[in-house]
Amino acid sequence: MKSPCVAKCKNNDGICSGCLRTMKEVIEWQSFDDIKRESVMAEIKGQPDTHFCPECHEPAHCDISAGKATCWCFELDKRDTTDCPSGRCLCRQCLSKQPLA
Ligand SMILES: [Zn+2]
Repeated sequence: MKSPCVAKCKNNDGICSGCLRTMKEVIEWQSFDDIKRESVMAEIKGQPDTHFCPECHEPAHCDISAGKATCWCFELDKRDTTDCPSGRCLCRQCLSKQPLA
């Protein structure tokens, strides 16, 4: 089975610090089909990119911008993003490094 798991799984308040999947994605991974798995793995890398992360300026994927009703970031414990430039979501890597709100 395809998986982005790098055997460093640690629940970092809702997101895996190793592979940057949300805990929901980790739990549901087995029930995803390959198409869904590949799309999640691409989204983790910011593809298709909806914007650039305001912190690291790498491509980032926001589910809301992509037209979905919810976003992967809703699964995380709320982060303190008051220091971040407003308007744009952080990528998974950067958001996971922010302190909890
Ligand atoms: Zn970033």
